[in-house]
Amino acid sequence: GLAKFPFARDLAGFDFEAQPSVDRHQVRELATGRFIANGEAILLLGPPGVGKTHLAVALGREVIVAGYTVLFTSATALVANLAKAHADGRFDERLLHYAKPKLLIVDELGYLPFEQDAAHLFFQLVSRRYERGAMLVTSNRAIGEWGSVFGDPVVATAILDRLLHHSHVITIRGESYRLREKRRSGLLQ
Ligand code: ADP
Ligand code: MG
Repeated sequence: GLAKFPFARDLAGFDFEAQPSVDRHQVRELATGRFIANGEAILLLGPPGVGKTHLAVALGREVIVAGYTVLFTSATALVANLAKAHADGRFDERLLHYAKPKLLIVDELGYLPFEQDAAHLFFQLVSRRYERGAMLVTSNRAIGEWGSVFGDPVVATAILDRLLHHSHVITIRGESYRLREKRRSGLLQ
């Protein structure tokens, strides 16, 4: 299909016991896809390894089953793609590609800071989708740090304004799931 998930994960495989900062009832509700019908956004925030991408993929699968189209991309690939299309005079076409699916999942926003031009292209995409389709964004950076992610506080504010307007912000705390499993099995101190 269209989704292009980086790995196969589902909600059944998510250990909610291990992750008390995630409300399983909220996740179950989001999995119905009603947030998409309502044009809302989901922000999954937290440090590396706490299950952001797992939950993003699992929710993506659930809403496909519920009948929605989904496209999954890393933030880096998305922005590189938009920048290339812009340079080639095909930006509108590319924007349409990313605006079409009912849910666009943008993974790992903030791992690399955006160039200022890239931040602007990303803003155009967020504006295009705003109230027409839903977005799910994962980030290892707190919302207060997005100004430095986008390299421009004005663009960051404009993006956040749209993403946060109707949104579900899930902040996942704790240590990396993999490290924690290793520690449990005695492989780490
Ligand atoms: P993040 O995107 O936050 O960096 P990932 O979603 O890639 O983290 O999680 C890292 C690995 O740990 C993945 O293989 C994921 O399936 C697993 N994982 C993380 N949290 C959980 C959890 N609560 N239950 C089951 N597996 C988890
Ligand atoms: Mg991830």
